[in-house]
Amino acid sequence: MTSAATGSNPSDTDRCPCRSGDLFGACCGPRLSGATPAPTAETLMRSRYTAFAVGDTDYLLRSWHPRTRPRRLTLDPDQRWLLLEVLRTEHGGPFDDTGVVEFRAHYRAAGGRGSLHEASRFSRVEGRWVYVDGDITE
Ligand SMILES: [Zn+2]
Repeated sequence: MTSAATGSNPSDTDRCPCRSGDLFGACCGPRLSGATPAPTAETLMRSRYTAFAVGDTDYLLRSWHPRTRPRRLTLDPDQRWLLLEVLRTEHGGPFDDTGVVEFRAHYRAAGGRGSLHEASRFSRVEGRWVYVDGDITE
């Protein structure tokens, strides 16, 4: 299983786009490649942010709950994801089945800079964390 089709993933020794401070190969890289599933809702959320940042739509669809997953996903090529702040997590740990991660993600788009503030809901499907849906606030 690989996401090489996107061709834009960072190398393992680059700093991870989620800005955890770790290298891509020690952070979101193994999630996007499918090598290591995310152990917590927060790590899944970080890996999905990274997938948005590098344009890995396959991973975004794979890590979406089957009930809420869109049929296909088109990302805005002008939108650049700049920074992720994880503000709050609720449950979503290794022994939980559901979790909430509240975050603010900063971007630059054709119309200027902006940010997305969302409380995302996650749950486990067959042992793997997936994104369900979220509440967007200003
Ligand atoms: Zn990361």
